[in-house]
Amino acid sequence: MTDSGSAEAGLRSNRRNGVILRPEQLDATPADPHPDAGARRRPDEPLADGALQRIVVVGGGAAGLELVTRLGDRLGRRRRASVILVESARTHLWKPLLHEVAAGSIDPGEYEVNYLAQAHWHGFGYRFGEMIGVDRSAKVIHLAATLDDEGREITPPRSVGYDTLVIAIGSITNDFGTQGVTEHAVPLETPAQAARFNRRLVNACIRAQTQDGPVRPGQLHVAIVGAGATGAELAAEVYRTTREVVGYGLDRIDPERDIRIVLIEAADRILPGLPERVSEAVRRLLDRMGIEVHTGAKVTEVTADGLRLADGSFIASELVVWAAGVKAPEVLRQFGGLEVNRVNQLVVEPTLQTTRDPDIFAIGDCAACPRQGEPTPVPPRAQAAHQEAAHMVGQIERRLRGDSSLPYSYRDFGSLVALGKHSTVGNLMGLFGRGFFIEGLFAGVMYRSLRTLHERALHGTPRALLGLLVRALWRRTGPPVKLH
Ligand SMILES: Cc1cc2nc3c(=O)[nH]c(=O)nc-3n(C[C@H](O)[C@H](O)[C@H](O)COP(=O)(O)OP(=O)(O)OC[C@H]3O[C@@H](n4cnc5c(N)ncnc54)[C@H](O)[C@@H]3O)c2cc1C
Repeated sequence: MTDSGSAEAGLRSNRRNGVILRPEQLDATPADPHPDAGARRRPDEPLADGALQRIVVVGGGAAGLELVTRLGDRLGRRRRASVILVESARTHLWKPLLHEVAAGSIDPGEYEVNYLAQAHWHGFGYRFGEMIGVDRSAKVIHLAATLDDEGREITPPRSVGYDTLVIAIGSITNDFGTQGVTEHAVPLETPAQAARFNRRLVNACIRAQTQDGPVRPGQLHVAIVGAGATGAELAAEVYRTTREVVGYGLDRIDPERDIRIVLIEAADRILPGLPERVSEAVRRLLDRMGIEVHTGAKVTEVTADGLRLADGSFIASELVVWAAGVKAPEVLRQFGGLEVNRVNQLVVEPTLQTTRDPDIFAIGDCAACPRQGEPTPVPPRAQAAHQEAAHMVGQIERRLRGDSSLPYSYRDFGSLVALGKHSTVGNLMGLFGRGFFIEGLFAGVMYRSLRTLHERALHGTPRALLGLLVRALWRRTGPPVKLH
């Protein structure tokens, strides 16, 4: 079945119009804002369906959802192009929030964006399904069938045709083939995995409270593999929320005695990708919390009760989170003969076009985009995804006008690490590319500004600010930690 982007019936109902979206309504084609467009079309204005360029974006994450939202507003609504998002999930949660979901500090429902509603409000189409391949000569991508929890088919296997294809499917955890990771460790790639870790954490506390015998060694230990920003931030959040949970009357647990948080890093210091001063400041804060840090420690195996290090030692821990390294999804390893690097990223030109096909672009974590004067590509970070999405909007508009593509250049604004309520630490890039160290309240405000930028790109400034206000109020009145 081929989907040209215009064949399926549009979904017109949404919550804004007072109609609740039904979960089974999983595909949407934007409502036609000019039903009589053909009769009153001016040059360069709305085109008939068949004449529309089909712009297909696969992956609605930090990069892809910002891109389709802006393209939908600028091109889709005005019928200057058909903009389609292909996405394997139904809702979007900005990934840098996942460690807070895992620790139970936030309720994901407050931050999630429903793709179907977003598509309707912003003039793009949404195709629910996982991309499993591409046929470059026919210019179609293939989607797998989708199934519900009972195994019943929701959407059949199908194809989506494109004129311009943008791949934005992000990254997944790289376990480097370490034994036992798939079976025993929880990765933090999706909201479901983060929620699963949170359930295991809360359940472990409740079990320890109600069991007959004393708390076993390792029963309330959390081992986090990978001390990059995600690992360090998760350790601090888990430290805080486990104490909050125990504070709700789980009096058989003594946090100082029973709860142990261990952070394990193969490099010789934590936050190896950030300046040493940031790494040292974060290390001091973690030490103050009593979080145990092992550097120069390579994990060779994860078991049901803990993990083994290369030196033969064993760390007992019934809860293991794997946050060490990323790679692009496996589907890109053999993707229509396009060039990929050793971590499956599509190799792109500075214009973000893949090296072997100028009609296929890649942005975000799944793209290996060269950096002028640097040996390594643009890093897999939310700020790069945000910048590339913004650049891509202009790129698509230039293509529609028949102008040539412009190169993208990554601008590093610095990196910040937020350790829950303890502090935020990082370096910001000043003038002439020189970094300066910041810590405390200002750093915390800067840290949150990246999320605000994302929310502004998705909802506009008034709604983004309203969201901030509502959540701030809720945090003052609701429980400080999610217990279910
Ligand atoms: C726990 C955690 C914390 C982080 N914290 C920070 C931080 O503080 N600062 C920072 O700069 N960066 C941070 N990052 C990295 C940042 O989240 C990523 O760089 C960013 O999300 C990349 O955006 P993306 O659009 O490329 O991919 P994603 O945001 O991952 O989106 C990819 C989308 O593609 C969809 N998808 C995947 N495969 C398919 C398929 N085959 N077919 C259809 N759809 C598909 C997925 O469902 C997803 O919606 C963090 C990452 C994690 C995991």
